[in-house]
Amino acid sequence: MQFCQGHWDKLKTEIHSLGLGQFIAGSEEEMGRKLSAQADAPGGAPSKNTFDPLMNAFMAITQRALEVGGIGLMIELQTPPNPECPLCFMQQVHEQGCKIEGCTFTYEAWIGYAAKDQLDYAKSMGIVGEA
Ligand SMILES: [Zn+2]
Ligand SMILES: [Zn+2]
Repeated sequence: MQFCQGHWDKLKTEIHSLGLGQFIAGSEEEMGRKLSAQADAPGGAPSKNTFDPLMNAFMAITQRALEVGGIGLMIELQTPPNPECPLCFMQQVHEQGCKIEGCTFTYEAWIGYAAKDQLDYAKSMGIVGEA
C-alpha cells in the first residue's frame, strides 16, 4: 500500500507541525535500519532509536484502512483505474455512496489522528516534552 504524494506530504507536514520531524528517517536506508531495529527489539516495541513517526503513522493508517475495507481493499487498490492510495480510494467510495448533500466528510482526518497518536507515543517514551 502506498499514499499518493498529496496525502504523504500532508502526513509529513502534520508530523513536523507536532514537533516530531526530528525523528523522521532522512533516507530510505535509515528508515530500513529503524524498521529492522524495531522488529528486532524485545516485544517489537519501538524505542527512541527506532521510533519513526512518519512510518508508524503510515502503518497505523493502512492498518485501519484494512480494518474498514477488509482484505478486498488490497485488490481494489491494485485494480486500475482505482487510486492506489487508500485514503483517495476510500474517499472516492464514500463520495459515490454518500447520500448527504454537501457532505464534508473526509478521510484526511485520519492523518491528523495518526499523527497525534505518534505525539502521545513519543511523550509516553519521554522523548519529547509535554509542551
Ligand atoms: Zn491519496
Ligand atoms: Zn458523506
